[in-house]
Parts: sequence; structure tokens; C-alpha cells
Amino acid sequence: MSMEFDRYTSWVEVSRRALTSNVARFKSRLGPDVRLAAVVKSNAYGHGLVEASRVMLEAGADWLAVNSVEETALLRHAGVQAPILSLAYIPLACLEEAVGHDLRLTVSNRETVDRLGAIAGRMKRPARVHIKVETGTNRQGVRGEELLALAQAAARHPYLMLEGLSTHYANIEDVTEHQFAELTAAALLFPNTFFNLARVGIGLYGLWPSKETRISALQAGIALNDLEPALTWKTRVAQIKTVPAGATIGYGCTDLATQDTRLAVLPVGYYEGYDRKLSSVGYALIRGRRAPVRGRVCMNMIMVDVTSIPAAKLEDEAVLLGRQGEDLISAETLAGRIGTINYEVVARINPLLPRIVV
Ligand SMILES: *Cc1c(COP(=O)(O)O)cnc(C)c1O
Repeated sequence: MSMEFDRYTSWVEVSRRALTSNVARFKSRLGPDVRLAAVVKSNAYGHGLVEASRVMLEAGADWLAVNSVEETALLRHAGVQAPILSLAYIPLACLEEAVGHDLRLTVSNRETVDRLGAIAGRMKRPARVHIKVETGTNRQGVRGEELLALAQAAARHPYLMLEGLSTHYANIEDVTEHQFAELTAAALLFPNTFFNLARVGIGLYGLWPSKETRISALQAGIALNDLEPALTWKTRVAQIKTVPAGATIGYGCTDLATQDTRLAVLPVGYYEGYDRKLSSVGYALIRGRRAPVRGRVCMNMIMVDVTSIPAAKLEDEAVLLGRQGEDLISAETLAGRIGTINYEVVARINPLLPRIVV
């Protein structure tokens, strides 16, 4: 282990091989005529915005899709020149900066189109827009009957280029009988649901959008090991101690040592993104074995039980999410234990933790 890693108490390792192979899988499923927009919002689903974007562009992703001008600025400052598309609403006050970064905008309202057109004209720089069409989520998007008017408004501005039309299907993750399909799920299952640019998010990180998508993929003859999870979240043992039978563990004394118990203190808590609902419910991997969380998750610490791992010692690596030895803590396992989805588990790992491409 390098000196660099030795300095961290908690960090996220991102596998270049996994990201590269996931990009290749989607590229080959999409075929030569469809460009792949890698969705890197939410700090690349926790994988590190700049780090993951670089790897995925090197692996053949054509575009990046983000949620804000701030993310775009970070990417541009890191030297990323690939086309970037915003999926989210960009405030009117940020449009000039957006044009400056050559950010393509998803638009669904007239105010944005007119303001953007005026700004682009003043800057004499083209602004490319994609109109979002409503297809059932009733999130962003214009309804069919408003589409033509918005497109005509865009056409009146000489520096506005209507580059794309996008859809977002509402009901794909939770069903196995599909009428419509979208995104990762669509790219995997339904080649006829996208035009010439596909926005793919979670699948590129090696995670499945849902159990139902996995089932549909299996039925379609797609191997489940086609996608390789890229993220491992690590920390290291900060203290080992033995507590006697009868002692309570953690804030609120919610856990009780029913025997003499060896505890390892790990320097991560809910601030770092380790959900407090994992109190007495989660587990870490140390020396390839399971060490259950004892007591409440604190802001910056947890205690795990290493009674059955006698070799555990100070600064041992502990895995909170990902593989260690033969065992694996998947994002789905953690999500299942706290009543959420894999997306939320990875996206909420604190962006301040170092991301290291390995
Ligand atoms: C997040 C997002 C995606 C990616 O979704 P996944 O399920 O992660 O593939 C695509 N399009 C839009 C508009 C999004 O907001």
C-alpha cells in the first residue's frame, strides 16, 4: 500500500477496469450510430466527478451529462473538452456561465429559451439546447402540444441551436412487463427506445437500476455479470478495545455486550455517508470476515465487533462497501437493510472523501 493511502482514514477506490468494461458493454449494445452520454451527476454517483469522467471518456463515452453549471465548471477546469449536457434546470442567472462553458442545456420553458438566446447572441457564441418532452413522469418536460411553440421560439434566436429532443420514461424500474423503457434500463433491454444519444447512469458504475431490470435482462439473455461494480469504500481501524460482558455500546446505550467483546473503532459515520439506520444493522469486512456494527452510528465513528476476528489490529483496512477477500458488501445489501435503493447508497458517500482510481 502506498504512502498516499496510509494518510487517509476513509477513501473510495474506483476500479478503472470495471468502469472501462461497463462503458464498453453499453457502447456495444448501443451500436455505432448511438452516442453514449455518461451521466456523472451527484459526484458521478459517488465515484468522483472528475476521476470517473476521465476514465469513462478514455473508455469511449462520447458525452457527459451533469446536473449543474458548477459540475460543468469543475470538469472544464480539469481540462475535459467533451460535450457536456445539463439534465437539470439551470437558473437564469447562470446562463451566461453555461454558454461560456459550452454547456448544452435541457430546456422545457420559454423564459430560459429567450434569455439564453439573447445571451448567446450578445456573446456571439452558439448555445445548444435539447427540448425535454413529457412522457409520463410529470417531472421536467413540455407536453406535446407545447413542443412546437417552444421549438419555434428557439428557432427565432440566431445563436440558439436546437440540437436535440429528449424523453424520460416514467415506468421502467419497477416493472418486468414493459411498455416503455429508459436510460440504463432501456439501453440494456430495449434497443428501439432511443434515438442517437443515450443517457446512461447507474449501469456504467456496474449497478443495476432495479431487481426488475435484472430479471428482464436475464429473460432477454443478458448475463448479470456483464456489469461490474466499480466502487469500494474503505476505512481503517482506529482503535481496538475489549469491553466486558454487560457493558453497553454507543450513544443511548442501545447495544449490550452479552459476552466479553472485542470492538474495533472505525473513523466513519453518518457525516461520511454511512447511514445512521445502519446502527446495529450494518457490517464491515476486516481480514475478509464480517464485523457487525454495534450500537449507534455516530457522526464520524462506528464500532464494529471483531470478537471473531482475533487477528484484527490497528490500521487494518476495513471495507464498508465492496469486496474484500471472498466476501462482498453490495450497494444493494446496504440499501436493503436501510430501506432505500443502491443509487442513494453510493450517491451519498461524502464527496469530500478522496476518490482514487485503481
Ligand atoms: C439521472 C438521470 C439519468 C440516468 O439514470 P440512470 O437510471 O442512473 O441510468 C438519465 N436521464 C436523466 C434526465 C437523469 O436525471
